[in-house]
Amino acid sequence: MGLRIRGPGPGGAELQAHPALLERVGGASRWGDFAYRPVLARQGRRVTREHRLQLALWGRLLADHQQADVPQGLVVAGDGRGFQRESLALGAGLQHQLEESLVRLQGDLQRTWPPALVSDRKKCTLCSWRGLCDQAAAAEGHLSEVSGIGGKRRELLLELGIASLDGLAATDPEQLATQLEVHGEQHREIAAQLVAQARVQQQGKPERLDPGLALSELDSAPGLLLYDIESDPDARDDFLHGFVVVKRLADGSWPADLGEGRYQPLLALFEHGEPLLWQRLRRWLDHYPLWPVLHYGETESIALVRLARRQGATDADIDLLRPRLVDVHARLKRSWRLPVSSYGLKAVASWLGFAWSQKGVDGARCLLWWRQWRYWRHEPGPRGRASRYQLDRIFRYNRDDNLATWTVAHWLWLQDSKRVAGRGPSPA
Ligand code: SF4
Repeated sequence: MGLRIRGPGPGGAELQAHPALLERVGGASRWGDFAYRPVLARQGRRVTREHRLQLALWGRLLADHQQADVPQGLVVAGDGRGFQRESLALGAGLQHQLEESLVRLQGDLQRTWPPALVSDRKKCTLCSWRGLCDQAAAAEGHLSEVSGIGGKRRELLLELGIASLDGLAATDPEQLATQLEVHGEQHREIAAQLVAQARVQQQGKPERLDPGLALSELDSAPGLLLYDIESDPDARDDFLHGFVVVKRLADGSWPADLGEGRYQPLLALFEHGEPLLWQRLRRWLDHYPLWPVLHYGETESIALVRLARRQGATDADIDLLRPRLVDVHARLKRSWRLPVSSYGLKAVASWLGFAWSQKGVDGARCLLWWRQWRYWRHEPGPRGRASRYQLDRIFRYNRDDNLATWTVAHWLWLQDSKRVAGRGPSPA
């Protein structure tokens, strides 16, 4: 464990790697009739290209060090129920990819300015250049800025000579649909949406898609609950169910600003068991009978209904629960096209002026804090204190996500109110 290995890289550079763990295997090496192979603890559900390249790098340096080939690496993972082991071949093709990546990386590290924007910018969340690249992408109208365009669609558009957001906005949707048809019906169907999205982003003005009310549930409800789950996807563990209570005002309107909001976190600890969690959730929901439960994205409704079923809820219980669960993201996408590059909560709520109270915190950081809290919470020393403070920060993050959901929901309600003459008080 904890080995540091060095070796020569392309162009005379020195490579260094810190494989967390090596496994002793049969074979012959400089030490005798045994050798080692690197072990990688996988995060996420699948082995990715990054995992393969990392194992290939460890294998390359280890082969030099032990003076014996490393034909395989080992990937291990916990899926919440068991322990998985998967051997991964570190063949010539992968070594070739590694060599190419190292040459590119060496070039990129010598730059004083970010490299050209990648075509699929989803992984930019991991990159320290992101802030600068986001600015550059917005300024140049990079196609990846248009919501709905990933790496593959961008390639197709570039082949057609459409290289920017402005170019896409100026394209005839029918013609684009015909041109994209050869690549599959799904591309044809989405052509008009892409052009319309680019036009909305270019003009900076939202466009209503559906004449009906986006959130008709807010018409008559005396109050509502905002709901957000924090999860550990590797352990398939929804560890926090957080709610914020929102009450209708005496004049019949909904408060725009909830302040801190009345926040109720329900922690789901393995050791307490799911029956207890369901009991607490049900008691909480029953305390506000029939109030709508607003959440952003489908995760919360799927998780809650599944949990209820596992805990023996009847069809009648589920029939009462399901209509209460309102996916604000789905309602937004059905009713509006917005000048945003993503319909994720962060992008939409930020566009509406919401600011998270903790800078630089995201779901991944909360997950790290959660795991640290689970590990150290009973320690009396500084680690224990730090982990308890981190739990508070997880709650703050979760509460903020609920408040961000409210920012979006309240905006939808305002637009609904403007649409229906004579309904309720005039929105501000
Ligand atoms: S933020 Fe994205 S586009 Fe920019 S350097 Fe990083 S990976 Fe490349």
